[in-house]
Amino acid sequence: MVKGKIKLLKEALESSKSIQTLDYPGGDPQIDYSKPRFGSGAKYSHICEGLRGVPQYSEEDCCGCAACESVCTANTIKTEDVNGKRIFTIDLGRCVFCGRCEEECPEDAIKLTSRFELAYTGPDSQNLEKVKFERDLILCERCGNPVAPVKQYEIYSEKVVKNLGEKWREQSKEDIEKAGKLCRECRRRNAYTLNLHTRKYY
Ligand code: SF4
Ligand code: SF4
Repeated sequence: MVKGKIKLLKEALESSKSIQTLDYPGGDPQIDYSKPRFGSGAKYSHICEGLRGVPQYSEEDCCGCAACESVCTANTIKTEDVNGKRIFTIDLGRCVFCGRCEEECPEDAIKLTSRFELAYTGPDSQNLEKVKFERDLILCERCGNPVAPVKQYEIYSEKVVKNLGEKWREQSKEDIEKAGKLCRECRRRNAYTLNLHTRKYY
């Protein structure tokens, strides 16, 4: 019992000779926290490489495909198609930093950052981490239902034509012209009359 207390006292005295607490990561703007920082007692505090923090969205790169919404299990990303617009609401307060949105984004429009602080004390704190933006939608030429965001349509119709190669380039352009601006249901209903069957590519 006495031995134990002496040992404890020794350790307490030993530890008081050096700093035992770590700086809060990122607390001092003069310090590069991306690298381990060694001080007296070899203590360091840094943001680890690969830390999954708050996602950063690039509105400029986003094509509006909503793939990120479909993989976000925390309901952080929500979209709504209203009056010819796809409205994105990203509530970062719900984010669990899983990184699935970054993995799935075909345009590299989402990158997880090393920012991990989301706490606020101000009166409007609940709105501080909400991101809102919208994308114009193509509406079906026959029924008026949303088809896809304009930007996504432009990017992918070009990719399809390119990937199909020289032989089918004209045919694929023709099919996109005929059916690219029809919704899935109208495309299905008119597949025969518009000769959309993929058989012709084989
Ligand atoms: S990191 Fe995960 S939880 Fe956060 S927005 Fe992306 S998919 Fe959703
Ligand atoms: S997956 Fe990427 S490109 Fe698609 S809507 Fe989300 S951020 Fe935009």
